[in-house]
Amino acid sequence: MKRTPLIAGNWKMFKTCSEAVETAKRLAELTQNITDMDIMIAPSFTSLVLVSESLKNINSLINIGAQNLFYHKEGAYTGEISAAMLKSAGVSYVIIGHSERRQYFGETNEDVCRKIRASIESNIVPIMCIGETETEKKEEKTLYVLDKQIENGLKGFRSNELATLVIAYEPVWAIGTGNTATPEQAEEVHRYIRSKIEKMFDLNLAENMRILYGGSVKPDNISELMSHENIDGALVGGASLDVNNFIKIVNFNK
Ligand code: PEP
Repeated sequence: MKRTPLIAGNWKMFKTCSEAVETAKRLAELTQNITDMDIMIAPSFTSLVLVSESLKNINSLINIGAQNLFYHKEGAYTGEISAAMLKSAGVSYVIIGHSERRQYFGETNEDVCRKIRASIESNIVPIMCIGETETEKKEEKTLYVLDKQIENGLKGFRSNELATLVIAYEPVWAIGTGNTATPEQAEEVHRYIRSKIEKMFDLNLAENMRILYGGSVKPDNISELMSHENIDGALVGGASLDVNNFIKIVNFNK
């Protein structure tokens, strides 16, 4: 099954507006001829418009993502950002339920579900992050945790509504720690996630869904990860901040 790879960079709370624009432009120059995969960068909210406008001028193939959204259309929700606002800022992807949001901001699977619906209604591709903590892994609860995150995160959806959904498997113990899951461990979990999607929805959705791996992805481990059948790309944090590192990851097949 051939799925278009997606290499996505999560810039987290790094880079001022000028730094973000500068990084994005350099990356755009270096990726001008790459048409065999999708590339996404997710700057902070404050840089989204500037980055997307600056890339428009140079005809870039890079997609702009946001790191979060709020699920209401509009209203008295001080400090929040809606899907329509993101859309108007040039955003086409949004990261939802990142473990840092679950851990530090109390995001639940139910929030994740509402956010996925809001993004789909605004034609923004949702990247749903799931993954177990170190304790959950030690207690052999990985599959149970993933089941709950998937069942509750995708509750109430019909298969055809999820055609664009991307899932990012990000074991929390691997994020920002340098401890990558082995490619074999990641492949096994990805295969499980795909079979779960098939059981909850159908084979067609499961076969076409892109499942990314995230957690200390670096230039020196990306090729091996990507050589596995069920690993369709990567969500990259730390290594996406530096153009030289990120471009090596994007060029994993060169
Ligand atoms: C992430 O932020 O989604 C992530 C995977 O971070 P890192 O690559 O730094 O582990």
